[in-house]
Amino acid sequence: MMEDIKKYQYVQKLKKMREEVQTVPSYFDGLEPLHDRLHPGKLWLQVSDVKQLSGDTKLFRFVSARSTKVLAPFRAGQYIGLTVEINGVRTSRPYSIASSPNQLAYYELCVKKKGGGFVSPYLFENLKVGDIFEATEPMGNFYYNRIFHGKNLVFIAGGSGITPFISILRNISERALPFKVWLIFGCLTDKDILFKEELEDIQTRRPNIKVQYILSEPGPEWSGVSGFISKDKILKNIGSIDNKFYYIVGNQEMYRFVLNELKELEVPRHKIIYEAFGVPDDVTKIMGWPENIDALKKVRITLEFMQLRQKKKEVIEVPCVEPLLNSIERLMKLRIQVNNSCRSGQCGSCRTKLLSGKVFMPPEVKIREIDNDFGYIHPCISYPITDLHLDLTQI
Ligand SMILES: Cc1cc2nc3c(=O)[nH]c(=O)nc-3n(C[C@H](O)[C@H](O)[C@H](O)COP(=O)(O)OP(=O)(O)OC[C@H]3O[C@@H](n4cnc5c(N)ncnc54)[C@H](O)[C@@H]3O)c2cc1C
Repeated sequence: MMEDIKKYQYVQKLKKMREEVQTVPSYFDGLEPLHDRLHPGKLWLQVSDVKQLSGDTKLFRFVSARSTKVLAPFRAGQYIGLTVEINGVRTSRPYSIASSPNQLAYYELCVKKKGGGFVSPYLFENLKVGDIFEATEPMGNFYYNRIFHGKNLVFIAGGSGITPFISILRNISERALPFKVWLIFGCLTDKDILFKEELEDIQTRRPNIKVQYILSEPGPEWSGVSGFISKDKILKNIGSIDNKFYYIVGNQEMYRFVLNELKELEVPRHKIIYEAFGVPDDVTKIMGWPENIDALKKVRITLEFMQLRQKKKEVIEVPCVEPLLNSIERLMKLRIQVNNSCRSGQCGSCRTKLLSGKVFMPPEVKIREIDNDFGYIHPCISYPITDLHLDLTQI
């Protein structure tokens, strides 16, 4: 009995000492390492392999540049934001992970060189084995959701929009998942059909996966389907629209076209998810762009931002047809860094307080209601149509 009392007193003494030293109670439930593994925030990636897939597309393989840090797990369909510095301009672009989520030795990104682009031509021309890049952790909501998506999946890809699908298809095929899949893949010519060999292999081994190529500019030797991914072609492939879930990925023009075709087929909107690669090439052609605004118009932006722990103010002049984030990144002398990841208005990393003025956003971009209510914009997809006052210090 005495011994128990002594033990109790000893434990109480230890507890008191601990409380004195440590005023804030520590919380450790063993999940922190798992959390850090899933959400490392930033990743450092090193190019380990480069492969040319077509005239304008390359596949880059990245391993972790830190030997003690493994790559973060991801869901097939997610992307990472790759940061680059080009002629002093620090910027980033999102790229879907094309590799299978069932292995984490490397990520593969497939980059199509965009005519008139900024980052993609740079990556295409310059990336070499050994180069190191900063990237975000895997992000995005474009992945299979087992509660809502069911077992019959229609994947519609345009050009490099195949990248998230190849990861999803690899996953379905490797794990022999019991889905029925129709992949409708639109390309310009047969030379632009990325991952063709692998797609053929997958559909040979997995009868539940059907692939249909549609070429919009086929050569004379092409005997397959040609034209655009129209409603008739979609219907011919999938038989009926019922009891299916639809995924669309492609450039802005392609996804708008296909979305409209699905609407005409009366596919319910809640049965469709999409990812549009990149900002519109010409924002003045987007529905809702104010007709009275000349594409050559320049506007004045008053920027408030922190530099060396001091609040600074600068007025700049920018074109109204360029996303605000791009214009801000051009100001390399100010070294302003705005967090960003998706550069398409979805993730909200770049949310910025708009103190006054008006911006245009393509109608399909849905920013969070709370951002709207409190006057925040997503500069990655916002175009300034009047003079603006932005406060980059209010997050
Ligand atoms: C979720 C998601 C996943 C994606 N996945 C892929 C993928 O797997 N593969 C793929 O190929 N693409 C993918 N994309 C598209 C990709 O992110 C880029 O949009 C694409 O590579 C084009 O980028 P770009 O910089 O070449 O062209 P743009 O983004 O169109 O760049 C041109 C713009 O850069 C700016 N600019 C030009 N010159 C300068 C300068 N000197 N200083 C500062 N700014 C300048 C201007 O605003 C100009 O309009 C994805 C997009 C999203 C949203």
